[in-house]
Amino acid sequence: MQSTILYDGSGHKNVLLPSFDEGIAVQANQHLVLHGGGGMILDPGGHKVYSRVLAETRVRLGEANLDYIFLSHQDPDIVAAVNGWLLATDAVAYASKLWMRFIPHFGLDKLVMDRLRPIPDEGMKLDLRGTSLLILPAHFLHSCGNFHVYDPVSKILYSGDLGASLGAPYQEVPDFDGHLEYMAGFHERYMGSNAAMRAWAQMVRQLDIETIAPQHGAYFRGKPLVNRFIDWCEGLRCGIDLLADKFVIPA
Ligand code: FE
Repeated sequence: MQSTILYDGSGHKNVLLPSFDEGIAVQANQHLVLHGGGGMILDPGGHKVYSRVLAETRVRLGEANLDYIFLSHQDPDIVAAVNGWLLATDAVAYASKLWMRFIPHFGLDKLVMDRLRPIPDEGMKLDLRGTSLLILPAHFLHSCGNFHVYDPVSKILYSGDLGASLGAPYQEVPDFDGHLEYMAGFHERYMGSNAAMRAWAQMVRQLDIETIAPQHGAYFRGKPLVNRFIDWCEGLRCGIDLLADKFVIPA
């Protein structure tokens, strides 16, 4: 599969890297934001795809430098190979402050530990060579220390596991209702609660979003699909909403 260019403007590019997954590992997307000679990789992935994602990233970077590694949360399909990324580049990695003492369990060399930096609960801005990327709180969607990235130039919201779909036979969502079968079950089980969904919807409605690009499966392009997705999230009962009286001791 080829890389997909999600946005290409003057001095700014957003690249969805090819899907390198195979076998039983869940399909995962790796995204690259390039701006003014610098780059950020979002959710670089685990060991199984490490060498291929790194090679493809280097091709896409060309002369540019990888400035940042963004880790939306602590799961292995995102973080497992971060030591390799920190050794192979001089990038600074950002993840929720909640995970600072857990991520080293994946194996972090002393040499690179100071380049893993905490994101405060309220989020932050990251300057990528003159453009300001928003690191937005999205806690409990699904991880308790969880962030999304909004790029104001491309108007892409990188939504991590929120919006993930499994098994859809396309890269771009063609039709919202037809897409539900690939994402409803995942969201009902993996997302924390409707309260978190509502807080998120209220926040992201204040942004000008053209594309929502999740970490698994297909992306949503165009305001009608983006708005349908936000509305759907806002109304979804999920996680602990569906838990009442469901714990039964196994017979
Ligand atoms: Fe996850």
